[in-house]
Amino acid sequence: MSEVAYISHSDCGVHDTGWSHPEHVGRLRAIPRALRDDFELFQRLTHREGRHATADELALAHDPAYIASVQAIAESGGGQLDGDTVVSPGSWAAATAGTGCVLDAVDLAVSGDATRSFCAVRPPGHHALRSAGMGFCLFGNVAVAAHYARARHGLDRVLIVDWDVHHGNGTQALMQHDPAIHFVSMHQWPWYPGTGAASDRGRANVWNVPMAGGLPPERYVDAFIGAVDAAAADFTPDLVLISAGFDSLRGDPLGGFTLEMDDVERLTRELVSRATQWCNGRLVSSLEGGYAPERLGEACVRHMNALL
Ligand SMILES: [Zn+2]
Repeated sequence: MSEVAYISHSDCGVHDTGWSHPEHVGRLRAIPRALRDDFELFQRLTHREGRHATADELALAHDPAYIASVQAIAESGGGQLDGDTVVSPGSWAAATAGTGCVLDAVDLAVSGDATRSFCAVRPPGHHALRSAGMGFCLFGNVAVAAHYARARHGLDRVLIVDWDVHHGNGTQALMQHDPAIHFVSMHQWPWYPGTGAASDRGRANVWNVPMAGGLPPERYVDAFIGAVDAAAADFTPDLVLISAGFDSLRGDPLGGFTLEMDDVERLTRELVSRATQWCNGRLVSSLEGGYAPERLGEACVRHMNALL
């Protein structure tokens, strides 16, 4: 097996938000399309179909009544959780697959079968709250994975880093009570969802990095890496989880950051190098936003090349 796994699940495509919704299935299709254009990368990755998370696993971070309600809404034909957040008939299968792929990646990282993984999943997760979907997200894929790594694999410390252009308010809500998880979120400010002030520190285990839009890209990279180092100063993680939102790229329709492909590569390399020092390289990256599909596909390829 290659050291780096590319994990997805065909059910992630059956979450049907409609083509007029920014978070449509074309985003996910752009990733294998871009990957096939880089044959060497394609061959060097271990390709895996992930699994579905169980309701018990989702309940590591979510209210069981909310989990059951998402399943019931999907099975009864679908509905809206808020103005942006759709549940379609396929969404239960998609959302449990999305989280399940990240749990699969954690299993591989802990067993050593694949030290690093990229999970190409949807719906995204970092806005989902304990008892509510929000901002295109149904379940907190990465937050559930952090609790799973602690509860099921006995890891002592998990670091979550989030470079999506939006604040990972859901991730923060699902982890901030737990000092064994540290969280870094860099995000545009002021911007959706309006949370994530620098003074919002959780239990001193949250590093929010609000940034204006339109700055030179190195300002974002430097601020993010600085916060990662602050979050790991007295806390050597046993696992690093990345909420990889590529709506922080220049030109994204839902963000005003200016990152280019070289910046994606640098961010990834900086985190791979730190994970190598901290935790034998264990690093799991999961897709969050990114709403210009061609750019998203290209960024995922650069990200995976840097993971290798
Ligand atoms: Zn986003």
